[in-house]
Amino acid sequence: MHTATMTIGGRAVQSQSAASFEVRNPSTGEVIGSAPNASPADLDSAVAAAQTAFASWSKQSDAELQAACQAAAEKIAAHSEELAILITQEQGKPLNGLGSRFEMGGASAWASHTCGLSLPMKVLQDNAQGRVELHRKPLGVVGSITPWNFPVMIAIWHLMPALRSGNTVVIKPSPQTPLATLRLVELLNEVLPAGVLNCVTGDDQTGSIGAAMAAHTGIRKIVFTGSCATGQKVMQSAALTMKRLTLELGGNDAGIVLPDCDPKAIAEGLFWSSFINSGQTCAAMKRLYVHESIHDDVCEQLVAYAKTVPMGDGMDENNLLGPVQNRMQFDTVARLVADARKKGDVLLGGEPGDGLFFPATLIAGLKNGDALVDQEQFGPALPIIRYRDVSEAIRAANDSPNGLGGSVWSRDIEHARQVARQLECGSVWLNKHGAIQPNAPFGGTKSSGFGVEFTEDGLREYTDPQVIFS
Ligand code: NAD
Repeated sequence: MHTATMTIGGRAVQSQSAASFEVRNPSTGEVIGSAPNASPADLDSAVAAAQTAFASWSKQSDAELQAACQAAAEKIAAHSEELAILITQEQGKPLNGLGSRFEMGGASAWASHTCGLSLPMKVLQDNAQGRVELHRKPLGVVGSITPWNFPVMIAIWHLMPALRSGNTVVIKPSPQTPLATLRLVELLNEVLPAGVLNCVTGDDQTGSIGAAMAAHTGIRKIVFTGSCATGQKVMQSAALTMKRLTLELGGNDAGIVLPDCDPKAIAEGLFWSSFINSGQTCAAMKRLYVHESIHDDVCEQLVAYAKTVPMGDGMDENNLLGPVQNRMQFDTVARLVADARKKGDVLLGGEPGDGLFFPATLIAGLKNGDALVDQEQFGPALPIIRYRDVSEAIRAANDSPNGLGGSVWSRDIEHARQVARQLECGSVWLNKHGAIQPNAPFGGTKSSGFGVEFTEDGLREYTDPQVIFS
């Protein structure tokens, strides 16, 4: 049992009301720990601690900030296995494959890459008429609100650029997966000055700490990763205090398979593009459009590959797919699949399994307008849609309020690139999907949010510009 504490002002604290909530392992249903149920007063303490720390942290030289972030990155790498185990226990994803060790590999890679980024002062003009300098200034306290699908990696995406650019942070993980983040923040506080990084947790039942953060007058920016519906609420609350926002929201990414593909050669790539983390991935492929000439072969190869992938408790080193993380998400997947069963052809799976395990499900014969195609399933069920000509597939792919990612599969890269440029989304991959990397900006278009993460473009979002004219 992990009886976790929050970190506020460098100290381990329980909620002021001594309340806590249980955390369960989705593979077994067992209670594995508890996290403090913060009150608004706890949030106020965390924001006050971050404000106090900002006074000195923001005045550190660029080299000092970089060195402190490097120490944080080293801490993460040194505790990678411990955090991976916590992630598997509370999130459910397997240790192996594209699971928690993979997530921690990403967390380390992003942490160290972010240390090397900087936003030096730019001289815009320096001549007889005068000198103009563009400086980037940290904002103050950044509030980070994270989801339950990649709890540590997404926390790193938020907090490292915030800290690197001289801000201080209050982070709030999802109530489904608070333990790994609480431990991460505890570890990072061993190398960061008190108050620079604080963590509060709440159960979302007795009042939303996330909502209180979005409205808090002491927080200058919210970086939020989660659903579109919650993102809209954050945006509304943030308006009152003119907070800066980065919103990384839901996706309903389409993949388009062009007729020149070899179905056997792409089956494994297609499968993991969709089923990474049992489909609980923002930029997973959630709809697959396949040209009619190879549709049946692609279906057959996908089914054959999917049957080889073991699902079960993530602590078993052999498993590559885990459960759906929580009951609410499981019920969403079950509802969408039950509807799709009536309209299409179930190629694999299709019935809920034991506990929170939902078998990998492939359903063909669907079209836009069917709920499993139109709505984000965020789970292990892929709709497959047959198309006749590529312009029809592009239209169908774009017929969505979301615009996070997309992919085009073809042996003709130039043709694939032409199709890619017609897709309405922030990232398009050719012959792969969702393969984000720290040296490329990532963000959504349309209802999938705004602002980008990673690279100097991402770092800039944690600063205000200041121009000095002389
Ligand atoms: P969610 O929106 O339910 O919760 C996200 C976070 O918001 C949690 O920490 C939650 O406690 C908090 N929250 C709840 N109510 C709030 C409120 N009123 N104000 C502020 N915060 C509040 O999302 P989830 O179910 O945890 O995550 C799944 C969703 O996240 C999916 O839609 C997925 O596509 C999306 N997602 C997007 C990305 C991306 O980068 N675009 C990455 C991962 C997940």
